[in-house]
Amino acid sequence: MAWDRRKPSWIKSAQGKALRRYLSQDVYPYSPYYQVRFEETGVGQRGIKSRADLDKVPLTTFDEIANPASVVLRPDEQSIQQYARIGLVARVFWAKLWRREWVVNQRLIDPVYKPLHWHVDDGFPIGSSAEDVERLAELGRRWLELAGVARYDVVVSVLPPGPNLAYWELVLGARQAGVSALHLNPSTTVEQLAAARPNVLAGRPGDLVRILEAARPIARNLDGLRTLLVAGARLDDGTRRHLMNLVDGQAAVVAAWAPPGVRALWCQCRDGEGLHTAPDAEIVELVDPLSGVPVAGDDGEVAWTALDWKGTVFLRLRTGVYGSIDDSPCPACGRTTPRLLPTATTEPGFARVLDSHPKVQAWQAELRTVEGQEELIVYISIEPNGRPGRLLRELDRHLTVTQFVVMDRRRLDARVSKHGESRVLDLRP
Ligand SMILES: [Zn+2]
Repeated sequence: MAWDRRKPSWIKSAQGKALRRYLSQDVYPYSPYYQVRFEETGVGQRGIKSRADLDKVPLTTFDEIANPASVVLRPDEQSIQQYARIGLVARVFWAKLWRREWVVNQRLIDPVYKPLHWHVDDGFPIGSSAEDVERLAELGRRWLELAGVARYDVVVSVLPPGPNLAYWELVLGARQAGVSALHLNPSTTVEQLAAARPNVLAGRPGDLVRILEAARPIARNLDGLRTLLVAGARLDDGTRRHLMNLVDGQAAVVAAWAPPGVRALWCQCRDGEGLHTAPDAEIVELVDPLSGVPVAGDDGEVAWTALDWKGTVFLRLRTGVYGSIDDSPCPACGRTTPRLLPTATTEPGFARVLDSHPKVQAWQAELRTVEGQEELIVYISIEPNGRPGRLLRELDRHLTVTQFVVMDRRRLDARVSKHGESRVLDLRP
């Protein structure tokens, strides 16, 4: 049975097993960056036994990785002898004995690990091995299946061709799905597009709006169109409504998107809400944006962990995406792969808690590191008869705050304006 029809409990336990194997046999031995971090935090090679242990792994941000090569898995003879499964160690030994080291590299290591395909996310180079490229093709095929693209549809893409994830996932996915595809570029004219008679049009939100506005009436100029695949940028609700008006009920609008660093797009299904994730290729969890502590279910920042990817590997990567995760069967397609329901704003959950509380007048949050521990200080001004003790205890249940500093409105406003109106100050090194 495929992962997308399994019970959430089965998925979680299978992810736990895959994670344990992946971290101890691939990430720890061959990622210089995470090996150091696992040692620093006492996790070691085998400290992660299940999904529940994942929070022992520190969160990762793009900014703290000075050298992109340090997060690429790079096995060499020494690390294999030290850490690898006994089978691989033996094969390296025999190859060396017969002075055939090239066999080890070419037949055993390169196909699995050598990064040979690159794309760039937010200026950061992301490497993929041959195995990863095959996997991306399969995930691309699933994207088209979720979007309701049929085998005899013709896909025309105006995604910008280049080293970006959406373009390559569509190229590889269409090939894997056996779907005919023509890859043009964003400056394609309506005449060129219409000549290809697309059933499926793929592109970035703004490019699709521009092209469809020029193609009106759609029923005459693009009469075969039945699916809009929106990718390459996040689709906001306003643009979605605009696209739906432009296609006038003739085509479905289906979005796919993922933040930088995530190795395959998260995909909406046809007529569904939220974005399906791929539990066999990733672990998606929610954390409190300031403390980094995992939050159950509801509302938090998405932290993304690779599962079995080679090349560039991130664990618990902070994505800056906020939302909730639903692992009940999708009402539209019935699949049980966890769906991410992103919130429209990028405002973190704790900001909404503070903003929505009737007795909080104003606030500012400060995050800093003291002797290696992260601390969250919230400066707060409250209604004159706001019963501070009770209010702070109540807020404390929703937030992980080291200290509240109560001050009057005037001083707090001065503090906020001194910091350029910024209400969240991240002073961590
Ligand atoms: Zn669905």
